[in-house]
Amino acid sequence: MSLLIKNGRVINPATDTDGIMDLLIEGTRVVKAAKNIPEEADQVIDAKGLCVAPGFIDLHVHLREPGFEYKETIKTGSRAAARGGYTSICPMPNTKPAIDSADMVKFIINKAKEDAIVHVLPVGAVTKGQQGQELADIAGMAEAGAVAISEDGKSVMNANLYRDAMKLAEEHSLLVMAHCEDINLVNGGCVNAGPAAERLGVKGISNSVEDVITVRDILLAKETKASLHLCHCSTKDSVSFIRWGKEEGVKVTAEVCPHHFSMTCDEIPGNDANYKMNPPLRAKEDVEALKAGLHDGVIDCISTDHAPHSAEEKKKPLESAPFGIVGSETAFSLSYTNLVKGGVLTLPELIERMSTVPAKILGIGKGDISEGKTADLVLFDPEAEYVIDASEFASKGKNTPFGGRKVQGRICMTIVDGKVVYDASRGFIG
Ligand SMILES: [Zn+2]
Repeated sequence: MSLLIKNGRVINPATDTDGIMDLLIEGTRVVKAAKNIPEEADQVIDAKGLCVAPGFIDLHVHLREPGFEYKETIKTGSRAAARGGYTSICPMPNTKPAIDSADMVKFIINKAKEDAIVHVLPVGAVTKGQQGQELADIAGMAEAGAVAISEDGKSVMNANLYRDAMKLAEEHSLLVMAHCEDINLVNGGCVNAGPAAERLGVKGISNSVEDVITVRDILLAKETKASLHLCHCSTKDSVSFIRWGKEEGVKVTAEVCPHHFSMTCDEIPGNDANYKMNPPLRAKEDVEALKAGLHDGVIDCISTDHAPHSAEEKKKPLESAPFGIVGSETAFSLSYTNLVKGGVLTLPELIERMSTVPAKILGIGKGDISEGKTADLVLFDPEAEYVIDASEFASKGKNTPFGGRKVQGRICMTIVDGKVVYDASRGFIG
């Protein structure tokens, strides 16, 4: 099977490529990138006016399977990812049961082989059942194919246990992904502390809830030499601490989620749980600091923290609804609109932060579409404007605060291992 993509603007940050050219794919590999490739192919795609880039890699999604299939499944979550231009996704282990053993890692990998249309790279839990008491079988999960460990959804509050986990992760070349939240400081908060919480009449989550653990984890990574990746950074001071960690030579990387740079807590219109996520939407000065961090490279990449919930769950008031919003299908357009159109990143830089850099953080040799590399690609129209409509989402979750928002940059096609898996004009294939 061969596939020829003609006349697209090929942007491949890994090789500093940016120009109109053709791309020939044979089997699962890119075999040629050049102007006017004369060869015939089984399938020809006219990409005139479109950008052709390495498929996005999402370090942070929640697929909800097993245990919460009413919210999302590996199948629907992978379709949402493909519709968002993602070709690889890392599901977090807070399922039921948790992904805390070699068998559970294998379950996810095997289920994904049957049901998923993008690559699924599982993340294992740090502690058994994510209970924070006893370490999970970190060596066994590494052997079974986990790409990282994380207690996402919470922090391991026992610093000694977490330090032991970091040492083991380092021995087994596993990334440690940290959700930074001091549970003792949360105190029933559900939106950002300060004027927003006061206006909405609910308890607030202060920046220190995140910052205290961010600092702790950077210090533990410094001591253990573990590779630490900080999830969904949301505060101004976390950017400063990450900068400090990098200057000290700590192996620390960081992600920011589109909602944290696309909206402030002042935009929460009322008691609507579609605006509730953890960490919460922050103040304007935090949003500005995150953008500055992306601009100067202190913040390495963009991940979604795609967190689907049922409509019923999100109809509950702010105080009792679960945390989280969906993100796979809005990440690119929100990022393009707010960061590229907003002058924070160039388009090649955005692709780098959504594909090349996450691949490097995982060490998986993807995020590059030069000759000989895996043909995981996204085609998008940077000029197309549209209004976000949650009813169109492939995800089971429609819980987004961005419904009705006008954005620019539409995903047209997603190609995984040389096969078109999503085509905006035809839907899902396979
Ligand atoms: Zn989290």
